Amino acid sequence: MLIETLDVLRCPYCGGRLALVDSLFHQRTSEAIQDGILGCHCCIFPLVDGIPVLHVLPASTVARDHLQAGRPDLARRAMFGLDDDSQAEAFDAVASSDTATYRDTVEALGPNFEGGYFLYRFSDPTYIVAQAVARAVGKTVLGGGRRAIDICGGSGHVTRTLLDLSEVPPVLADLYFAKVWLARRFTAPGCEPVCCDGNAPMPFARGAFGFAMCTDAFMYIWTKRQFVGEMERLIDGAGEPGAVLIGHTHNERTWSPSHGQPLTPEGYADLFETFEPRVFGEGRLFGDVVAGGPLDLTRRDDQHALDTSPALTIIASRHPGVFARHPLTQPAAAAGELRINPLYAQQPDGDGVRLRLEFPTEEYADEYGACREYLPETVTLDRAAIDALATGRVAGDLVELVRRKVIVDLPKRYY
Ligand SMILES: [Zn+2]
Repeated sequence: MLIETLDVLRCPYCGGRLALVDSLFHQRTSEAIQDGILGCHCCIFPLVDGIPVLHVLPASTVARDHLQAGRPDLARRAMFGLDDDSQAEAFDAVASSDTATYRDTVEALGPNFEGGYFLYRFSDPTYIVAQAVARAVGKTVLGGGRRAIDICGGSGHVTRTLLDLSEVPPVLADLYFAKVWLARRFTAPGCEPVCCDGNAPMPFARGAFGFAMCTDAFMYIWTKRQFVGEMERLIDGAGEPGAVLIGHTHNERTWSPSHGQPLTPEGYADLFETFEPRVFGEGRLFGDVVAGGPLDLTRRDDQHALDTSPALTIIASRHPGVFARHPLTQPAAAAGELRINPLYAQQPDGDGVRLRLEFPTEEYADEYGACREYLPETVTLDRAAIDALATGRVAGDLVELVRRKVIVDLPKRYY
């Protein structure tokens, strides 16, 4: 963790500033803290492998004791929940390898860790809307120099799209140490990960951010009123107005898979005390993205549209540029590696390759089948297109293939 990140951290319980306790075990350089103990007015917290752990759940206490005994290796194992010695050794080997992929690392964490569909995350329908909205709002309020925070951002897939919007690294906050560790290493290199509890006050200073966002997680938060109050506090600063975004939260009035404890559209709106938020049905935003833009945030969905929308997007801001029509632009160069979407089976076809859309499971097809609106059933890539992938330049035929997610811009060493 960068030393300067201490400026935005606060104890979630007493609100005091945090500082490295120099008298206890620590490893640091002039710019960053690798391992150590952070103290405030009321307690001490471990900082493990560059990640501050600002909650007091059992693993945090165990890790803190290991650090005080000068054993950062055991502290990290505790935060990863690796109790079994042979599994812990296997994980340490993968973690210290320069060639291990995100997938290798997830597998080393065991079958209970991230089951699911991370391989396909960058092209799933929920993701493409979250990415478009986060970038449109983030670009408007960050102005290239303010800080963003992705709360409950898991392993950093959406945090990744915030990286180029500001010179200041975004903060990724999540309860799961393993997820934010993976994010910093693979999905969002350069972000500042913080391990904290979304059901507790947020461990950050008032006004520390220009943009506070949370996607695909808010329906699982129990303390929703506190969470929104905290998001409002985080962007409550002097200068340009910031923005709060809650993306893809389920609607109490419709059923959806992994439902959580959602509210009605007006229930969500009532959580806000210092802003009047706008609530959008996700379906029409999805339509904007599939059409190639613009993303129309001037839209006012009527009550019927909101009531029948399985997922909602909520934006609160006083910035005049937010509720506008935002063009959806594509970067001209890959941030990571251009690869064929793993949802396609590949078959050689002359000089090129023939791709056929193939879902991994029935459940995937049920939950994410809307990707058919942009992923063609079959497509043939010629030799020139395949060769162009290695250049990382998004030009010529690749522009449309990247827009439709047949070709995806994946983190380096993803799988
Ligand atoms: Zn404290």
